[in-house]
Amino acid sequence: MHEASVAASILEILRARLALKAPEAMALYVTVRIGEFRAVDPDSLSFAFDSLKKDYAGCRNCRLLVEPVKAMAVCAGEGHYYHASSQSAFACRECGAGIRQLLAGGELDITGYTVQSSESELEHNNA
Ligand SMILES: [Zn+2]
Repeated sequence: MHEASVAASILEILRARLALKAPEAMALYVTVRIGEFRAVDPDSLSFAFDSLKKDYAGCRNCRLLVEPVKAMAVCAGEGHYYHASSQSAFACRECGAGIRQLLAGGELDITGYTVQSSESELEHNNA
């Protein structure tokens, strides 16, 4: 299952960052940007994340926040800027041409996480 392996990668990265920066801290939130072209279902991803997180140090109470990113492209026809969606077979709405360049939509990044340290202090980190 695609979402389970994505969730495991997010947790592994988060665990490694915590081990390096704040070994005693508990992560409360992690934010990920996921492009439309990654074809990740946010509900399945959250479910997989919640099932796996107890196995990763510092991640037991962590909540996953997903920021979806629309797939935006420049078409191969007249260079229109458009939303490349699977519903329109990724074709340009103006002229029907395909994608020349994908500008956004391939993201799969941890953009930040919030931890609670032993002094009950909240600390936000940009990844
Ligand atoms: Zn076009």
